[in-house]
Amino acid sequence: MTMKREDGLMASDNTDWPMLIGGRQTAALSGKTIDVINPATGNAFCTVPAADADDVDAAVAAAQKGFAVWGKMSPLERATILNKAADLLQARMPEFVAAEVRQTGRPVREMRAQLARTPEWYSYFAAVARTYESKVHPFGGAHINYGRRLPLGVVALVTPWNHPLLILTKKLAPALAAGNAVVVKPSEVAPVTPIMLGEVLAEAGLPDGVYNVVTGLGATAGAALTNHPGIAKIDLTGGTETGRHVAAIAGKRLIPFAGELGGKASVVVFEDVDIEQAAAATLFASFVAAGQTCVQGARLLVHESIHDAVLARLTERTNALRVGAPTDEATQMGPVISTQQLATVEKYVAIGKDEGARLVTGGERLGDAEREGGYFYAPTIFADVTNDMRIAQEEIFGPVVCVMKFKDEAEAVSLANGTAFGLAASVWSPNIAKAKRVAEGIEAGIVWINDHHRIDPSSPWGGFKDSGLGKENGIVCYEGYTRMQSIVVNTAEEPFDWFADDGKQKRYS
Ligand code: NDP
Repeated sequence: MTMKREDGLMASDNTDWPMLIGGRQTAALSGKTIDVINPATGNAFCTVPAADADDVDAAVAAAQKGFAVWGKMSPLERATILNKAADLLQARMPEFVAAEVRQTGRPVREMRAQLARTPEWYSYFAAVARTYESKVHPFGGAHINYGRRLPLGVVALVTPWNHPLLILTKKLAPALAAGNAVVVKPSEVAPVTPIMLGEVLAEAGLPDGVYNVVTGLGATAGAALTNHPGIAKIDLTGGTETGRHVAAIAGKRLIPFAGELGGKASVVVFEDVDIEQAAAATLFASFVAAGQTCVQGARLLVHESIHDAVLARLTERTNALRVGAPTDEATQMGPVISTQQLATVEKYVAIGKDEGARLVTGGERLGDAEREGGYFYAPTIFADVTNDMRIAQEEIFGPVVCVMKFKDEAEAVSLANGTAFGLAASVWSPNIAKAKRVAEGIEAGIVWINDHHRIDPSSPWGGFKDSGLGKENGIVCYEGYTRMQSIVVNTAEEPFDWFADDGKQKRYS
């Protein structure tokens, strides 16, 4: 199957994208396909195969063959290929940015900034593979005990639509560095860049079958993959309910599960923050990615003494956001991903009004001539929100935020902890001692001080509470893609005979 290009950009025309099994581009055995929609226009721009259980069987079998080769390669050989992949991905960045903009509707300036970082994950984990040192444990006596880190085998990576390439990369780079083969099930809504990545990896020298992509619905392809007996670990990013469901499957099979799940991050703004900075911080946390990010600052907690001033300036800045075509360099916010997501946003705005929250701005779909057909929604702010309201508690995953007041540090911490989620938060104050104290009191896996939504391949990322299990990034993530074997070597020259009546002192544990 050839891949059609338009204006030098891949994935930019009405074309059929194959999936990737055993190094071959392939259609679904059933021949069925799924339309991929451009959320900025509401039009389908390509199709992908609708895989089901037979296709998943083929992908897992191919991955097992790939693992037989890749799992035996040395860390140096693997690192060399990953470094090459980083360079090739960098060289093809404009194509990936264009495809990501088209399938997610996120503004080009946003995707360019985000994707520019992705090659770092491959080079970082190449370095980890090269430099990882096994431990020798203090076993004592005449025994030497060392730990070996072994790859797991074939790993299932199930990914969402909001950051399709970045989230896949966060899982893939450590999984490959550690010697695993993978089968990826991307979101049916944004599967194009995960398929394109296969070309980069093949050109970098990754053996056939190590990277496989099955496209299709969560309920069919996703379910077949996560239930497959050939899978040695499941790593999923998605909603909390999907995570619970898939974690239970992993639990039954006693295989490891990592889940980066839902969030409802708080942004805590103290009274000593400059109003302009507070507005810039809350604006970014609220509306980057049209609020469709797991660490969206959906709960803006502002000290009562500056609450009105911050809300007024945030509202002015929000009203000035340029919402429009994501391909336009000037656009600051694009559409939401789908009609379902639009319906969810509309539902929660209605709930917020019913609950008695004050709609300060937004609260409506945008549909003028320029935006006709796209899933655009105005950036929306609710004030006078109380923590028990559903709009303060449930993940909306769209351009809707709640503003609440607090009077002191204790109340700020208590409000920030007053949700079932625990993925991320940010604390804003020039008083670092106070900000650190508050950050350490918040039950969230990631807390930024005087910043929001910063990431690095070395920096552990993952939630507490209903936001998930396990960590992406860093050495802790690499280790999560391995199993440890403990080798205990007895170096004593004297023979050991437990049952001999020789009067010697014996020890067996
Ligand atoms: P979903 O939970 O709907 O889907 C995530 C992935 O799981 C998709 O590939 C989906 O396939 C698949 N899936 C769905 N049902 C099943 C099933 N029964 N068995 C196996 N796979 C299944 O999430 P979204 O794609 O809507 O992404 C948004 C969610 O992701 C939000 O809750 C957000 O907070 C969370 N997220 C968390 C992050 C974190 O770092 N903690 C980062 C980014 C997002 P399909 O799409 O085809 O249905």
